[in-house]
Amino acid sequence: MKGISKNKRNNILFGILLGFAIIGVCTVFLFIGRTTVDFVETMLSPKIVRTAPEISKQFIDPNEYSRPGIKLEKVKGIVVHYTANPGTSAQQNHDYFAGLAISHETKASSHYIIGLDGEIIQCIPRDEQAYASNNRNSDTISIECCHFDDTGEFYVQTYDSLVHLVAWLEGKYGLDEEAVIRHYDVNGKICPKYFVDHPEEWDRFLEDVKLYIEEYGTREPAEKSKEEE
Ligand SMILES: [Zn+2]
Repeated sequence: MKGISKNKRNNILFGILLGFAIIGVCTVFLFIGRTTVDFVETMLSPKIVRTAPEISKQFIDPNEYSRPGIKLEKVKGIVVHYTANPGTSAQQNHDYFAGLAISHETKASSHYIIGLDGEIIQCIPRDEQAYASNNRNSDTISIECCHFDDTGEFYVQTYDSLVHLVAWLEGKYGLDEEAVIRHYDVNGKICPKYFVDHPEEWDRFLEDVKLYIEEYGTREPAEKSKEEE
């Protein structure tokens, strides 16, 4: 039997090499394509502040006046308030909310209270509704801010903690600045007074949150850490 001619052998060898070359080139292109898509996706994703501010969790006992225990299904916004009680501390406001369980004076509470020194107390878990923002209690996180006088202006420590807390919460819930509102924007209540009297200061606050996220946010995926509530 006649063996395969040298020419034919060369052709087969060439064919095999060509096959490998095509597979190799395709693999490289797929890899580059995938990497590019990943890169573009990462660059287009919003920055997220992963580090929460220091928060003292002092959950109020469930009661119908300040912690109704109603599930907060989906968070669509963050509502900023002022306590309207000049000079009082975050702890005093927390204790007032907690005391409503006994005093039955009114129905009121807030997820967070930021004090005159910038300290933050959390009264209600984030997956439960607070009594703070009228018809937006059902889909927002509420933040009360302490202030030193009737103008309702915040100390810089309170302001800075508010910027950090809002920046972190925006990342937690995938919200942008449109979702951050004043109590005033819910029902026209003069709250938080200073930001109602000075809308340009409210705009500056939103801008400061944006700058904070730009500076301290990251596009890296979240580390698998314990979820803060
Ligand atoms: Zn309010």
